[in-house]
Amino acid sequence: MLKVGIFGATGRIGRLLIEEILNHNHFTLSSVYVRNELQYSLPSSTLITRDFHIFLQSSDVIIDFSSPEATRALLEVALHYPKPLVIGTTGLDNDTYHLLEEASHTMPILYATNMSKGVAMLNKIVALVASALKESDIEICELHHRHKKDAPSGTALSLAQTCANARGLKLDDVRISGRNGMIGARKEQEIAVMSLRGGDVCGRHSVGFYLDGEYLELTHNATSRLTFAKGALDMASWIVNKQNGLYSIQDALML
Ligand code: NAD
Repeated sequence: MLKVGIFGATGRIGRLLIEEILNHNHFTLSSVYVRNELQYSLPSSTLITRDFHIFLQSSDVIIDFSSPEATRALLEVALHYPKPLVIGTTGLDNDTYHLLEEASHTMPILYATNMSKGVAMLNKIVALVASALKESDIEICELHHRHKKDAPSGTALSLAQTCANARGLKLDDVRISGRNGMIGARKEQEIAVMSLRGGDVCGRHSVGFYLDGEYLELTHNATSRLTFAKGALDMASWIVNKQNGLYSIQDALML
């Protein structure tokens, strides 16, 4: 049985992960990291702690769905107590992402801004279209529930990065994430990433390729958050015996 530790245990995804682990014989919920008191009960065998060191030591693999600050704190300790990590937290700043890269020299880390197979596939298709339809205007639109804190979503930024890579562009040079006022005509290489927020939407990502006379829109809808929890557990099983390094969901799915 794979001993899994959950970081972000009281969150929307964290709670689903715990339910999923408790429902499957393949996994054991070895430890959960909590800042405050848990509002629900866990098996007596599960270690509940706010000590990073103990948390990391007591599991075979850690799954993190928390916040950028929390992920940073986890990585700083993990550098001294390496452990296979599956990180799903989005909105990491450059420094934290570099820390994640550094940490991956001493432990295997899978980082995915979206743990669904469908979005992994979407990224693959989007790369193909962005490079084949070179003259198309790329506009990405994402829609999420009202509680989401970061914008644009990590998934939308990953899709934009895929498009930029496919066209040999630096994303920072061509991305815009809003239009307002007399801004003039669209720039040729622009990649727009726009965010909508509302209701309880789990996540919709649409990548549009706009040409004269036609357009192609590729859309992924997540209809349940369980998709992300299940995906993260699949990734945990995959990464646990891997060599040190930074892996993507595409690596795991061999896409
Ligand atoms: P949430 O706000 O419901 O839960 C966040 C959890 O992190 C809570 O348990 C909270 O206590 C904990 N946390 C926050 N700051 C902390 C800190 N400083 N120290 C310790 N713990 C801390 O959020 P959520 O909807 O569960 O999403 C969590 C993260 O996962 C977000 O970044 C979100 O964008 C991302 N996410 C990723 C995917 C994916 O597939 N990769 C899917 C959905 C959400």
